[in-house]
Amino acid sequence: MHIDMQSSPSERFREFFQAYQDENGRHIYVEQVQKMSLEGLLSLFVNYDDLLRFDPVSAKTLREKPEDTFKAADDALVEVLTIEDPIYASSDETAGLFHVRFSNLPDLVDLRRLRSVHLGKLLSVEGIIIRQSIVKPLLIQGIFQCTRKGCEEIHFVPQEGGYYTEPSKCNNPQCTNTSSFKLLTKDENTIYTDFQSVTVQEKPESLPPGQIPRSVPARLIGDLVDTVRAGDRAIVSGILRMKVKGKQKGKLATFDPWLDVNFVSSREKEFEEIDIDPDTEQEILELSTDINIHRRIVRSVAPSIYGMEMIKEALITVLFGGVSRVAPDGMKQRGESNLLMIGDPGVAKSQLLQYVHRLAPRGLLTSGKASSAAGLTAAVIRDAETGEFGLEAGALVLADRGVCMIDEFDKMNPTDRSSIHEAMEQQTVSIAKAGIVAQLNARTAIIAAANPRFGRYEDSRPPVENINLPPTILSRFDLIYIIRDVPDVETDKRMARHILELRRGHVIEDTEPTITMDLLRKYISYAKQHVQPSLTDDAMERIEQFYLNLRKESDDSSAIAITPRYLEAIIRLSESQARMALKEDVTIDHVEAAINLLRASLEQAGKDPVTGRVDIDYLLSGTTKTSRSKMQIIIDIMKEESRVGSSDVVSIRRIKELAKEQNIDDDFVDRVINQLRSNGEIYSPSDGFVKLA
Ligand code: ADP
Ligand code: MG
Repeated sequence: MHIDMQSSPSERFREFFQAYQDENGRHIYVEQVQKMSLEGLLSLFVNYDDLLRFDPVSAKTLREKPEDTFKAADDALVEVLTIEDPIYASSDETAGLFHVRFSNLPDLVDLRRLRSVHLGKLLSVEGIIIRQSIVKPLLIQGIFQCTRKGCEEIHFVPQEGGYYTEPSKCNNPQCTNTSSFKLLTKDENTIYTDFQSVTVQEKPESLPPGQIPRSVPARLIGDLVDTVRAGDRAIVSGILRMKVKGKQKGKLATFDPWLDVNFVSSREKEFEEIDIDPDTEQEILELSTDINIHRRIVRSVAPSIYGMEMIKEALITVLFGGVSRVAPDGMKQRGESNLLMIGDPGVAKSQLLQYVHRLAPRGLLTSGKASSAAGLTAAVIRDAETGEFGLEAGALVLADRGVCMIDEFDKMNPTDRSSIHEAMEQQTVSIAKAGIVAQLNARTAIIAAANPRFGRYEDSRPPVENINLPPTILSRFDLIYIIRDVPDVETDKRMARHILELRRGHVIEDTEPTITMDLLRKYISYAKQHVQPSLTDDAMERIEQFYLNLRKESDDSSAIAITPRYLEAIIRLSESQARMALKEDVTIDHVEAAINLLRASLEQAGKDPVTGRVDIDYLLSGTTKTSRSKMQIIIDIMKEESRVGSSDVVSIRRIKELAKEQNIDDDFVDRVINQLRSNGEIYSPSDGFVKLA
């Protein structure tokens, strides 16, 4: 022990800064101090563990009397700085702004357990920054002038605790002024720093089901301002204080707590929340060697939901996710896929989302008609209490580096509708409003469910009419599945049996053992952390061939079936498939599985009912390129005939004759007439005749 027991707290800190050596014998804190002016730093960062090892007494007082100890440490810093770098230490711009910041503090308190006993204590909370205010100047030292004529005495008043404090009385013994002082805002001795308030909220995944997340406001001062932004995960340390409101008399004596921040460490690592012990790791590695691992994983997804194998496979593939990369030119390529389920009511869409939410290592479940004002993306919100504008992160930002499940996706609010495009493709959310300009990260996979526009899915209508979403949003989903509820005696019987047996508490017999949800979650987490698959030559060739074929298919019928966006989708899905088996190489098998998923999706959602070909135009605009032009021909025939004929009723036989001359077969004419009839554009006054409406 190097420290004299009689030393003052500030002397003890000075000793610590100057004498502490790390295991390599380096005076790391002196070195840091020497570099401060070079880098324009105002803070000295101290690892609490170092202090504890060197001077347990100071470490203890720091936790017991944080307020005084912070001050002692700051004073000591200024002393050491004055020795090492006197010019920087005494410059006007930095006066009063030097701080010691402590990382690694031991008292990590669960936000849910924050109580009155914590008031005035030094503690750390871990959470997600959901809100950040604009940055404002904060007065630290005010220069006040007495406003009495002939007196005009000058006063230096430090602004303790961030509260505006005027002189209580004039210092001039001849003057009796106690109330009238003017702040000299431009005086060089009036010192300001920056101020920002943020809100730290419980992480969505550590929230007990059905609970409203707890949060605490925190104040960032000086160089802490803008060190975190909305959507970041962080550990925030500081002293818990309470807000004293103006007039409390006669009112309930409650106070709002806030955190006076000393240190912020923002957490970037992806899946550090899930601890995987060596035994589990062994289990995971063994599991991955099963040649049927894909099947086994898919069968383990939501076993209580009957059937839907394809969708379950798609869901789990999205959870594993592809690899995000940054191209040499700086372009970001997302690894996360987006999936949309549209279906009749009561087909277990919501149930599947709930299940996936519990399974996903970092999942957030929300509804399109979210109750929070920030909605799905982000919003500028005026704080009810302070009237300050602040930026609040929406669900996609909070789900950054995780998975966002959105139910009732078609019911999202209009602002989200316009800003979600960016979030889905670029994975960022930009906002520029009320003086706030920010870009937040939203690197998340999206799994959404929506109900059909007319309550039920109508086969006679193209997807775009069935879905209450603009094509531009639809095209950003890699996979779209349509879940129909069609009565079928056999399936109905089996599903009924399945649900009834479940109700009675029977375990559904299964030929293969499934993986428990807990293990599967760890498996996914492990795969995301440790496996970064890349394409083999074979896989690349197979993808290319698939893509070119689809493009060619569409070329024949002069419709653009498939856009390059789907090429990227296939790559992402193939990588996810490789990850599922913990394989670093993406092989042809993985590509085939991905192709199957995409094909099934395209066939359900984008198949041209006329040619039987996959046609994205049909999905996105409601008519295919081929049928659009052919349909127009038929409509033109009808218009022409009703114009030249004796009446405006046209015989279907006549239309077919004329259409044949243009190489359009009878079948197609029938179909177009049916479609126009169901759209209400034509009607039949009598059998075999139609009339334009
Ligand atoms: P949606 O969100 O599609 O309208 P829900 O997820 O609310 O439907 O499901 C309605 C109910 O029907 C749930 O209780 C669900 O368990 C049950 N259900 C529907 N389809 C299945 C299925 N394939 N297997 C088991 N249960 C099902
Ligand atoms: Mg539902």
